Amino acid sequence: MDSLFADRINDVPRSFIREILKVALDPSVISFAGGLPNREFFPAEELQQATEQVFALQGRDLFQYSSSEGFLPLREWIAKRYRDTQGLDISADSILITSGSQQGLDLLGKVLLNEGDGLLMEAPGYLGAIQAFSIYRPEFLNVAVNEQGMVLEELDRQLQGTSPKLAYTVPNFQNPSGISYSDANRQAVAERLKGKNCILIEDNPYGDLRFSGDPVASFYNRLPEQTVLLGSFSKCVIPGFRLGWMVAPEPLMQKLLVAKQATDLHTSHFTQCIVHQYLMNHDIDAHLKTIIDAYGSQCRAMMAAMDRHFPDTVHYTRPDGGMFLWASLPESLSAMALFELAVKQQVVFVPGDPFYTDRSNSSTLRLSFSCVDAETIDVGIERLGRAMGEMLAK
Ligand code: PMP
Repeated sequence: MDSLFADRINDVPRSFIREILKVALDPSVISFAGGLPNREFFPAEELQQATEQVFALQGRDLFQYSSSEGFLPLREWIAKRYRDTQGLDISADSILITSGSQQGLDLLGKVLLNEGDGLLMEAPGYLGAIQAFSIYRPEFLNVAVNEQGMVLEELDRQLQGTSPKLAYTVPNFQNPSGISYSDANRQAVAERLKGKNCILIEDNPYGDLRFSGDPVASFYNRLPEQTVLLGSFSKCVIPGFRLGWMVAPEPLMQKLLVAKQATDLHTSHFTQCIVHQYLMNHDIDAHLKTIIDAYGSQCRAMMAAMDRHFPDTVHYTRPDGGMFLWASLPESLSAMALFELAVKQQVVFVPGDPFYTDRSNSSTLRLSFSCVDAETIDVGIERLGRAMGEMLAK
C-alpha cells in the first residue's frame, strides 16, 4: 500500500498532539496539552435559537448550493467589524469565507507555492500551518520569534539571497508561544518585505482574546497590498462549524476563489447563516468579555503557579491574550524526556518539537490554560514543577 502514497503526503509530519490527547483521556491526568477553546463558552442555546430563526426565514433555500465567496451578509458583518475594531477599510468583496482559517492556509499553499519555493516560517510556529504548507513542499525558511516578535537578524539572514513567496505570522498571542509582535517589530518586518514579491500572512484567530496590554495595529495597515488576513469564528464563537475567512488583494483573491471552487465549491451555507443570525441577535463583545475574563484569570493563575513551583532556570512567556504559554528548560534538557516524567506525575503538555520544521529534542514546551480552572492549574503546575525538579537533579 505504501507505494501508492504521493510524495507530497509522505513528507507531512503527523500530529503528535493526537498521541498526547490519548494519555490525557485518563481523568486523573491534568492536561495542558489540548489546544481547544473552552466548551463552557459555546453559546449553545443562542445558536439553537438562531438555527430556528434561519429555518423560518429561508426554508429550503437554506439547503441549496450557494456562492463560493460566502454568504454576503456575513462578509459584510466581518468588513464592518474590521472597520469598527481596527479602523481597517476592507470591503465585503475582498473577503472569502473558508472552512476554518485552516482552509485559508491550504488555499494559499495551493495558489502560491511551487515545490521548493521559499516560505518564511515562525520558529516555533503553528503546527497546523507547518502541516498545511508541507503538502506543497516549500523550503521552510525559519525565523525565530521572541517576546518582541520575529528576530530581525534571523529574518535578514533568511532574506539574503532568497526571495520567499510567503511569510507566515501569528502576530497576536501566537500559537504555540503566546507571544505578540510589538509595534516596532511589525514595522521592521513590514519594511523588510515592502516591495518584495512576497505575501505576508497575518493569521489572527486569537486577536479578539486580549486580556491585558493595548492592541497593536495590524500588518494590513503597514503593507496593505502584500498582506493576507486570516480570521476565524473558532475561538470566539465555536470551532465545530468550521467557519473562517480570508482577506486578500484582488488579483490573488481571483485565484483563491478558483482554488476554493476546486476544493469544495463553497463553505456550508447553513452554518454561515446560523452564525450570521447569532451575530445579529447578540453582542459579540459581551460574549468575548466572558471568555477573556476566564482565560485571563486562568493565564494569571498559571503564571503565578509557575513562579511558585518551577525551578528558577525554567523561563516562560507572559501572554497578553490567547490560550497558550511557552516554557523553556535549560537548553541541554529535552522536553520530550520531561514529558515521560510528567506523565508519571499525571500531568501532560506538548513538547516543543512539532512546532519546528527542523528540530528534535528541543527544550521547549507548550501549555494551554483555556480549559483548566485556576485551582487545577495550580495542582498541575506543581506536579510539572516536581517532574522538572526530578529531571534537573539527574
Ligand atoms: N491558525 C492558528 C494559529 C491556530 O491556532 C488555529 C487553530 N488551532 C488555526 C489557524 C485554525 O483554526 P480554524 O481552522 O478552526 O479557524
